[in-house]
Amino acid sequence: MLGAMIGDIVGSVYEWNNWKDKRFKLFHPQCRMTDDSVMTAAVASALLSSDLTDLEMFKENLVAEMHRFGKAYPGLGYGPRFEKWLVQGSTKPYGSLANGSAMRVSPVAWVAETMEECLALAKASAEVTHDHPDGIAGAQALAGAVFLAKMGERKEVIRDFVENYYSLDFTLDGIREEYQFDVSCAGSVPQAIVAFLEATGFEDAIRNAVSIGGDSDTIACMAGAVAAAFYGIPKDIREEAGPFIDGEVRNVLDRFTRLY
Ligand SMILES: [Mg+2]
Repeated sequence: MLGAMIGDIVGSVYEWNNWKDKRFKLFHPQCRMTDDSVMTAAVASALLSSDLTDLEMFKENLVAEMHRFGKAYPGLGYGPRFEKWLVQGSTKPYGSLANGSAMRVSPVAWVAETMEECLALAKASAEVTHDHPDGIAGAQALAGAVFLAKMGERKEVIRDFVENYYSLDFTLDGIREEYQFDVSCAGSVPQAIVAFLEATGFEDAIRNAVSIGGDSDTIACMAGAVAAAFYGIPKDIREEAGPFIDGEVRNVLDRFTRLY
């Protein structure tokens, strides 16, 4: 969960100013948490307050938590349709296939004890807003990758799993020049997975993710979620990220990581 937030924070300054290079200062002074971190915290908070054998209860709690966090942290780069959903206090899904479902999903992989449970929770967490099949697929692919990494599986196993959802038949070097801003799951989740697969460590995964451009905070968030489960997060990066995470997000992060 912290890995996702660090990716979001590091990538936050590059979402609208793409930086197609791996060399940059990891924590730019203007870095901040964005919607990715805030909604990840909402998922974690809903998991903490739900009976996980009751997916309908989890979904109800998640809707309430997303609204609560959205109010506490307004204007942090929410997608226009999600912003409208928040402002209107909607409790209904709107068929989104954007990467919001995948950027917020990583906590489910930490609470799940089996892959089956992980995929069911990922689907439930997506479909309260992103009930398009592509929105659900993005959440499941990302959560399953985090789950396998957490279980100590090898990268080949993680790659094979994600290939049930997406073709990973490309390299970052091969797409970097042409890759453009794409907030769909199908246009950003596989890129985030490859950023992790090509990486030599946690920090390298984040740098890989930023280096292709596009929706940088979210791609780095997703790559960071998998990389943290696979490699762990170096202490110095953990410490440097600390001051960027505040308020209720900090509170939930601390409670969640104490348990999982
Ligand atoms: Mg964002």
